[in-house]
Amino acid sequence: MNPFVYTGFAGRVVFGEGSLQRLPEEVERLGARRAIVLSTPEQRASAEAVAARLGDRAAGVFDRAVMHVPIETAAAAREYAASRGADACVAVGGGSTIGLGKAIALTSDLPIVAVPTTFAGSEMTAIWGITEAGVKKTGRDARVLPKAVIYDPLMVMSLPAWIAAPSGMNAIAHCVEALYAIDANPIVSMIAEEGIRALAASLPRLVSDPGHAGAREQALYGAWLAGTALNGVSMAIHHKLCHTLGGTFNLPHAETHTVVLPYATAYNRDAAPEAMVRIRRALGAFDEGDAARGLLALARAIGAPTSLRAIGMPADGLERAADLAVQNPYFNPRPIERAAIRELLERAYAGAGP
Ligand code: NAD
Repeated sequence: MNPFVYTGFAGRVVFGEGSLQRLPEEVERLGARRAIVLSTPEQRASAEAVAARLGDRAAGVFDRAVMHVPIETAAAAREYAASRGADACVAVGGGSTIGLGKAIALTSDLPIVAVPTTFAGSEMTAIWGITEAGVKKTGRDARVLPKAVIYDPLMVMSLPAWIAAPSGMNAIAHCVEALYAIDANPIVSMIAEEGIRALAASLPRLVSDPGHAGAREQALYGAWLAGTALNGVSMAIHHKLCHTLGGTFNLPHAETHTVVLPYATAYNRDAAPEAMVRIRRALGAFDEGDAARGLLALARAIGAPTSLRAIGMPADGLERAADLAVQNPYFNPRPIERAAIRELLERAYAGAGP
């Protein structure tokens, strides 16, 4: 075994069908009396239902969360929290809503209780992101890690298949990269492999039958593990490519991860053989004899997008994307070579297969 360093994080997780009922207790545990509830405009009704559960501990609903936390939205949310005299914030939603909570916590130390409703995994990480003038800055700060996370599988029941499928693949991407991270360690690798297993086993069922309680539970369990893996180690080429493509061409987050994942995995195929074995093992029925092909087979089976063209990537952006992806040297099991990255992008653009 290689020597390793492992840091544990002290987030509290409450998991199980109906666990949202425990929200008032969790807010009380933090000693908070005036919690604001955050959501996207589309999830306003959910946020209001959550605020109603909080009764007189609720101090209002702010429903302006959008993808990538624009600085203007962060400023408005911070102002709202201050104007309501908030002493906690409950984020009900996916990565965008939880990201908004993090933006508030970053400047105010307001504790966050997260109620995730997608599989993105942000609730388990100390990673924040804020977009200013079209450029997304990210960083790590212990203040933004939610103090408590309530995983209630009932909250993903309303998730349409077209959001659930890419969101699940986004979670798998965290696990895949954790397995070949520069700072990989046996604990996080175990978590990551189990995360892929839980998601690959549940997503096909979930997209065909969102009412299936077992599938919802397994997928959310996988998302928790994936978020933990993302927080526990550093990411590599896949996350760098998705960050570049999402930021520069405004491509949708989870869909970009879905499309790129098989190609990034193939890029590292020979350089990270142990990770490939673990991915294949975890893919179960989708093990096609190759990790990258297996991931593509899973994406196809759940009806997720499989080409950059289909999600709005301009063909004339590939050169620029390749240039950006090779900037600022970073660790990847296989060295970053521009020509090979350019080819990867070409294949992902066309959906040519890894
Ligand atoms: P999202 O939060 O933008 O949600 C996508 C859409 O789904 C929204 O319209 C939302 O209202 C809707 N939705 C969410 N849950 C629903 C439900 N249960 N029922 C019906 N509709 C629902 O998307 P996301 O993929 O969860 O998050 C993406 C963002 O999160 C990106 O900005 C990404 O960078 C960030 N992110 C951050 C981290 C981190 O660790 N900081 C990790 C993962 C993602």
